Amino acid sequence: MSVFESADFAAHEQVVYAADPEAGLRAIIAIHSTALGPAIGGCRIRPYADETQALIDVLRLSRGMSFKAAVAGVPFGGGKMVVIADPRRDKSPALMRAIGAAVDRLGGRYVTGEDVGTTAEDMTLIKLSTDHVMGLPESSGGSGDPSPRTALGCFVGIVAAVRHRLQRDGVSGVRVAVQGLGNVGRNLCQLLAAAGAELVVSDLRSELVEDAVSAFGARPAAPEEIHRVAADVFAPCALGAVVNDATLPELRAPIVAGAANNQLADEIRHGAQLRDRNILYAPDYVINAGGMIQLAVERSGLDWSEVDRRVRAIGETLTAIFEQADSEGAPPAVAAHNLARSRLHLALRT
Ligand code: NAD
Repeated sequence: MSVFESADFAAHEQVVYAADPEAGLRAIIAIHSTALGPAIGGCRIRPYADETQALIDVLRLSRGMSFKAAVAGVPFGGGKMVVIADPRRDKSPALMRAIGAAVDRLGGRYVTGEDVGTTAEDMTLIKLSTDHVMGLPESSGGSGDPSPRTALGCFVGIVAAVRHRLQRDGVSGVRVAVQGLGNVGRNLCQLLAAAGAELVVSDLRSELVEDAVSAFGARPAAPEEIHRVAADVFAPCALGAVVNDATLPELRAPIVAGAANNQLADEIRHGAQLRDRNILYAPDYVINAGGMIQLAVERSGLDWSEVDRRVRAIGETLTAIFEQADSEGAPPAVAAHNLARSRLHLALRT
């Protein structure tokens, strides 16, 4: 693969390869932009089939982080680190220290954190070799589990989508189909139930479904059914690519708004098809930015009340994106991209 020719490379500031044979480190760090602040983004450990797959992943993810920070209005740029290894087999204290050393050599231009294949506890080991790490457990001075604030952002985003698409104030009596009852999904159900929403829930883990049924009076649905439940809102909070060629024609909810990353298998094509079907889609990286906003407590000195104010502002940001999309006759994902790009260019000029 020719890196400079790759569409995913476009506009990246820096891409760094790092290795430490003794610790088993083979990693790529991509810094998409530092225009708005240090490039933040988690460290993903995955047994990539080859180097090209790792490179494509890190370039796409780092650009996504830039866009997410720009739209959320937090003083961060976007970056990402991928480590080519099997997290179940290859993780060791030596590997974590080597990751920290590679991050440290960038002098703070890139700040790492938790991602697929790494945990908050891993961050405490990485911290032994660099200060440029976020998302540590609260016991180690970090801001703790981001999921409750991710869920809060998602909740206010659903309220905004319901107002825009259904002209209803609040979610009382609104039926929401929640896919995935993990850290974010359960917190989201709690907020929705307290606001009077009617819940239909699904998870591969039956004990999580039973818990939601008894705690929130939710109705259970099978995992293969949840996307086609007759609901007002489909809230994906499990996996990526849940809106794809097979599921999109079966969707019955007029709104798709949830916390999962990369919900559309093909952002452009499926974004346009959702719009054609008059299904309002809340762009994932806008609605799920609550956890990222929380990190500003650790790095840029925001206090908790300001963090909560900015998480709640996700609703207003989404409303502005929906209105802009309507006025341009474009899908909301395109309006969100344009907003992110304009903020990044503004910052580059100043
Ligand atoms: P999690 O691993 O705690 O929960 C995911 C849940 O989804 C699990 O309970 C799992 O059993 C369930 N699941 C998996 N496949 C399923 C299927 N086919 N049908 C129904 N349920 C299924 O993860 P999380 O932290 O709650 O994150 C959920 C999503 O939100 C992920 O896509 C994540 O990337 C994204 N996200 C999370 C945060 C955060 O703060 N945790 C922030 C931004 C984005």
